[in-house]
Amino acid sequence: MSESISRDMLDEIFSQTLKSRVFINRDVLSHEYVPEELPHREEQIAKLGSVLAPALKGSKPSNVFIYGLTGTGKTAVTKYVLKRLVSKAVEVGVDIDTCYVNTRQDDTTYRVILKLGECIGLKLPFTGISTAEAYRRFIKVVNTRNSIMVVVLDEIDFLIKKQGDELLYRLTRSGDELKNAKISIIGITNDLKLVEDLDPRVRSSLGEIELVFPPYNAIQLEDILKQRAKLAFHPNAISDDVISLCAALAAREHGDARRALDLLRVAGEIAEREGASNVSVNHVYKALREIEKDRARELISTMPLHNKLILLAIYILTKNGGKATTGEVYSQYRTLCQTLGIESVTQRRVSDIISELDMVGIINAQVVSRGRYGKTRIISLAIPNETVVESLKEDIYIAPLLSRY
Ligand code: ADP
Ligand code: MG
Repeated sequence: MSESISRDMLDEIFSQTLKSRVFINRDVLSHEYVPEELPHREEQIAKLGSVLAPALKGSKPSNVFIYGLTGTGKTAVTKYVLKRLVSKAVEVGVDIDTCYVNTRQDDTTYRVILKLGECIGLKLPFTGISTAEAYRRFIKVVNTRNSIMVVVLDEIDFLIKKQGDELLYRLTRSGDELKNAKISIIGITNDLKLVEDLDPRVRSSLGEIELVFPPYNAIQLEDILKQRAKLAFHPNAISDDVISLCAALAAREHGDARRALDLLRVAGEIAEREGASNVSVNHVYKALREIEKDRARELISTMPLHNKLILLAIYILTKNGGKATTGEVYSQYRTLCQTLGIESVTQRRVSDIISELDMVGIINAQVVSRGRYGKTRIISLAIPNETVVESLKEDIYIAPLLSRY
């Protein structure tokens, strides 16, 4: 009985999708898709292209350091230019090796070297040899290739934060070890602060050329979305209103194209789920809520325990619509720590964590003056109570505390 129900339910879901008049090709809105055209990035494409072009004549291109906030097209532009470079190289018969590594995924020096090896047909063991030995074998193979190798290290801040800039340093100095080949590096980061923290020697050789990707404005985002929507949706399923709204909402954040595309995709998915024949403005608002909820959950579930406890303290103090001061949050937090039998962090640290929570948009913390009592912050939640509860419930230490309040 229950089996046949669930089979019917699945049948319903499948045929809903098959019947869909909303999407032609949803994949076009995915993060991995690299479009044929990248509007409003002509300048960056031309610049990167002209830096890399000497590779076509066998000269080593300058290293490039690319930075800009998330969703400003850094990865898309770099992949696009590399793809075009490789096809030109094939056309004119020049050897260019390219290798793209995302160091958020491959976040140790060893794994990066493993990936670099793979790109030139070198199979390194997953374990058993030292990083230095892996690097030595990699360089040896590069040396036999008589080619230019363009290495892209994307989201390089992850590697540097975890392992330092040793590999970068070695790669930028690889010229000394290489006779028949050359390595150029394109380093990409979302973290603008990273640039200042780098070893000055690495910074100066990596940043021979620096390329900045500014955020998109609402009008630019609209162009990007329009081009993508043409490929993704049935013509009657999408309207300019919907696209403008997605663009405006994403521009309000910081001009993040990924966010704009996510909104459009999720709005389309909601329309499809509801069996609607077109995406409406209402679907976009629903999508916004869904995305914000997912984002908050992700942020909260990956926070350290004390950040979660401080968030819980704020929730307890404000769940009935109230607001709390820094001092109240601190004492509630201490009570929670006592209940758990763990040591609390200092008031100073609590204050920093409150700022962090404010910065990522989970709470609002407004500084107010209390006359001769100095300043305090008036704190409230910036996300719905349910989202806090659902996210904190996943933590095995916090869950029992939650049920007390
Ligand atoms: P970043 O690497 O800077 O975080 P991405 O290159 O991953 O940003 O871009 C985010 C998403 O937006 C990707 O799906 C990408 O294809 C798309 N995108 C970014 N800029 C453009 C553009 N100018 N034209 C079309 N799509 C773009
Ligand atoms: Mg990227």
